[in-house]
Amino acid sequence: MPRFDLLLRGGRLVDPKNEVEGVFDIGIEAGKVVEVGNDLPGAMAWRIVDLDGYTLIPGVIDTHTHVRGPAQLMMAKAGVCTALDMGDVRGVIDEFHNRGCGLNIAGLQIVGPPWPHGEPSAQDIAGFVDEVMADGAIGVKILGAYRPATLRATALMIEMANRARVYVAMHAGTLEHGSDFDGMVEAIELAGDNCLHVAHVNSYLRGLHRDAAEEALAGLAVLKGKRNIVSESYLAVINGTGGKIGKDGLPESPVARNCLKIGGYSVDDKGFEAAIRDGYAQVYAGEEGGETVLLSGREGVELWRAQGTDTGASFRVNSPRSTMLLATTKDEQGEFIVDAISTDGGNLPRNVAVQSVLSLVRYGALSMEDFIWKVSTVGALMLGLPGKGHLGVGADADITVLDLRLGKAIMTVVGGKVVMAHGVVYGSEGTLLTTGRGERRAREAGLKYQIVDPAEMWLYTKRLSGLPG
Ligand SMILES: [Zn+2]
Repeated sequence: MPRFDLLLRGGRLVDPKNEVEGVFDIGIEAGKVVEVGNDLPGAMAWRIVDLDGYTLIPGVIDTHTHVRGPAQLMMAKAGVCTALDMGDVRGVIDEFHNRGCGLNIAGLQIVGPPWPHGEPSAQDIAGFVDEVMADGAIGVKILGAYRPATLRATALMIEMANRARVYVAMHAGTLEHGSDFDGMVEAIELAGDNCLHVAHVNSYLRGLHRDAAEEALAGLAVLKGKRNIVSESYLAVINGTGGKIGKDGLPESPVARNCLKIGGYSVDDKGFEAAIRDGYAQVYAGEEGGETVLLSGREGVELWRAQGTDTGASFRVNSPRSTMLLATTKDEQGEFIVDAISTDGGNLPRNVAVQSVLSLVRYGALSMEDFIWKVSTVGALMLGLPGKGHLGVGADADITVLDLRLGKAIMTVVGGKVVMAHGVVYGSEGTLLTTGRGERRAREAGLKYQIVDPAEMWLYTKRLSGLPG
């Protein structure tokens, strides 16, 4: 009987955590790496994939995604093995059967107003947390920019999540401050001594008030040394928000208003239309061939009008001058100030972590080790998954195979199964990462699942650790 379910032969393995770099064969059995060596015998394998000329890294973990529509297809194609959905675990569970691609996905559920009694009580929040954990979430996401609460309610949500030791992430913003530098500072202040994942920090540091690079440096200075704060940033130029114009003639989304301001457009219906016409804004036009389509120009304006402006919208708002600083800056101890590189992608066509970071590696702004840390190893810490983020014997066989000449992923292996090869997705279903409290929901939904413990995640363990790695 062959010993390996899968033998990956002849690729260049880069596994910084285990200090391994070189051409190796990887033998995989029952979803785990069981042997790393040279000339592993092909007769011992059910299936052999020759990866001569390609580079193998620990599977990419995207710590900020939105898993809906064609998201899983798009992520598998981008080399993502594991993802954190930022806000809709219920939707994620529904989609595993329909559009699952064999990926590992953990989910948060959005918490926020309207509350039944206006301001939430501690019991309201505790009740909400219990409900979403039973629904399979690993925690909650506070969506301050879109569903702003009072300072008191926001601080209470963070506090209650910490008390329950569940995951808690926040898109900055309250009734006092918006989705900008001040909102980010406020979110960190509201956390106090509690732990908080500050989501997509680049989106507060795009140059709304000052030069984008200046804002990025100011943001980095605020984040530096805060071991109760975990964060990620993404590198795509486009963001994602809503296109709707309200009855008052103004964009309903506060983020869209900021984007128009940054782009130099008037913050109204006319300005929005001009932004779409110019291509600064794009509107969502459904999907084609498993990819979300965005439109601008005259077509975009027509679609936006035909939908009564109620479309999703993306602005070309992220300044690379800011996103590059956030992705690459380390502190004096050599630790990255922003923990991870994410995408905030999924269904939006910006699952570009691998491609963008590889271009930074080629440029010399990051090393290959930095790249693997920021797109995989720290993500494994962030989700409390000791079997991921490295490829030693006993590790989960989650592997992203790169073509460094093309600067992109050409194969995605999850749990020893090839879920994507050369742009074709073969995976189905997937694994829900949930807590013991969500196990019943996962079983009822007929899903494969893995139990994780938020108390063991970087959110809560970062402050206990010294230098990572
Ligand atoms: Zn997001």
